[in-house]
Amino acid sequence: MSISVSEITKIYGEQHALDSVSFHVKSGEIVGFLGPNGAGKSTMMKILTTYLEASSGEAQVSGHDVTEAKKAVQKSVGYLPEHNPLYLELYVREYLKFNADVYGVSKSRIEEVIELTGLKPEAHKTIGQLSKGYRQRVGLANALLHNPDVLILDEPTTGLDPNQLVDIRQLITSLGQDKTVFLSTHIMQEVEAMCDRVIIINNGKIVADKYLNDLRKGQEQIVVVEFDYRVEEAFLLKLPNVKTVKNTHDFIYEITFATQNDMRSHVFDFAHDNQLKILQLHQKNTSLESMFRELTA
Ligand code: ADP
Ligand code: MG
Repeated sequence: MSISVSEITKIYGEQHALDSVSFHVKSGEIVGFLGPNGAGKSTMMKILTTYLEASSGEAQVSGHDVTEAKKAVQKSVGYLPEHNPLYLELYVREYLKFNADVYGVSKSRIEEVIELTGLKPEAHKTIGQLSKGYRQRVGLANALLHNPDVLILDEPTTGLDPNQLVDIRQLITSLGQDKTVFLSTHIMQEVEAMCDRVIIINNGKIVADKYLNDLRKGQEQIVVVEFDYRVEEAFLLKLPNVKTVKNTHDFIYEITFATQNDMRSHVFDFAHDNQLKILQLHQKNTSLESMFRELTA
């Protein structure tokens, strides 16, 4: 087990920022820690990286207890904090060298992490001269210096433009090939793009913990169909296994089926039998988005 959290509670004054949170992350997983602002994500990550102590409960990272073996935890973990403090006047290599000295990491490792995070073309600049996307790379390079087994990344893509976003997501996915990654986000699509698994937190409580593969083959299926003419909803309700029918736009219908089987051929046969012409027909993948909205509403 790479990360093991057991009934962690954190109380700030009167507020339960975390309320008896438990979960386990296996080695090699990329897990998205998803929740709206104020849900408790950063608090959990600070506890796992030993920057904050829990009010009660236990947590281990790579088998080391976060209160009893802080040093060992710090050695196992690479942490990208939410508001990554970077020294803007320092050159990229200078900044990494400063931290490498703190960790007792060899100089050759600096060039390795520069290579690994794609910083090479910008490495001669000061951090202040870099775009937000490249600053995040510097933060990631820094987190990787001591070659930790576990990466804890707090909202690594917040504030990036769409191109930077794609680049950083790719970088994180590739880092995840030989590390355990636990990353927070409040964006559901982010989890879909990068993660094997999602843990959803709301008001300090875990409200869902699922593998994305299981979600993708969920119990429901929505088929979107466009006809060349108006069709009564009641008529479409005659389809097998149908749950609901919604007319979303002109002659476009969203049909929800209570089955995992691909229902498109049934819709096609139904249209054919009833002299309806189909202009488009596809399955809609919304399970994660709708689940997130329901659980955190
Ligand atoms: P997230 O990262 O999911 O946005 P946080 O872990 O930052 O959530 O915050 C969880 C809750 O705890 C929020 O309501 C926040 O206002 C509160 N909180 C966080 N840090 C402190 C603090 N140092 N003192 C008091 N309340 C805090
Ligand atoms: Mg946060």
